[in-house]
Amino acid sequence: MPKDTADLASRDVTVLGLGAMGSAIARNYLERGYRTTVWNRTASRAESLVEAGATATATAAEAVAASPLVVICLLDSAAVDEVLAAVEPAVKGKVLVNVTSGSAGQARANERWARAHGAEYLDGKIMGDPPYVGTERVLFPFSGARGAFEAHERTLRELGSVAYHGEDAGLAAVEFMAQVALAYELLIGYLHVLKLVRAEGVDVVGFTERFAGSLPAFPALLGSMGQAVKSRSYGPDLGSLDVQAALMDDLIAHRESLGVESVRMREVKALMDRRIADGHGDQGFSSLFEVLGGGREA
Ligand code: NAP
Repeated sequence: MPKDTADLASRDVTVLGLGAMGSAIARNYLERGYRTTVWNRTASRAESLVEAGATATATAAEAVAASPLVVICLLDSAAVDEVLAAVEPAVKGKVLVNVTSGSAGQARANERWARAHGAEYLDGKIMGDPPYVGTERVLFPFSGARGAFEAHERTLRELGSVAYHGEDAGLAAVEFMAQVALAYELLIGYLHVLKLVRAEGVDVVGFTERFAGSLPAFPALLGSMGQAVKSRSYGPDLGSLDVQAALMDDLIAHRESLGVESVRMREVKALMDRRIADGHGDQGFSSLFEVLGGGREA
């Protein structure tokens, strides 16, 4: 594909679904000078976009017919299935970009459906809030048809901070699920620690600021932990497990002395004890990966 393919892409785009996110996407394209066609099940939601220059259609199929690139942003996968069934006769030759939240399996099923109907499919996920669409504050992982991504890359990059994860249409959803799960695990740990901090009479805002100041150390730590898991070669990161396990006893005792729940800390301690019992007390925290249950090798 020639390097300047993106410049050849059309400046016509269709957006199906004008909820909070779909409207932000359509408005972003309008503001950047794209000829923007929109459709929404409840037609009145298109009015302000039409005032701003969009073309609204009565049916989703008409909207699909209007542009080579169709961005789908609906509530959930059930809504996507319903709308895809309605637009089936119009999708041949189109690039469908579905940014509706959903699983990797749903993305792969959509990709098969699109291919069977002569369309190309890109799956995207959205990490960020509608007011920030069009800025680097919103992350859009994409996966699916590489040629379609490259042909429309410039248009897709108008949405925010865009990354392409590969031809397997499910990979954007995998990235989204992993990032969101990790954020929740981190944030519930943070809230738990605030219980502890407040119980000790320390200001939670001041503590938060100090912890935020230590975050720049995390990329290097995470990078070395990721390498250790990949190579299954575990150095003593954060110290040896023998030493860390002793510290865990103090952390658990501290929580319990203040009446703060210690379930997750006990879980970590149990994992450390198992790893040590297996003869790996000289290894570090990343080696706990080996005793976490579940998962399979891809
Ligand atoms: P929303 O404001 O609730 O809008 C939902 C949209 O889906 C509306 O356009 C609605 O149409 C349409 N819809 C629902 N069921 C439908 C059906 N059966 N047939 C046709 N259209 C249907 O939701 P949103 O905030 O725009 O979110 C859209 C997607 O973006 C979701 O997958 C969400 O998880 C994702 N997302 C949202 C945010 C956010 O902060 N808002 C952030 C990241 C990701 P009507 O107007 O007719 O009801």
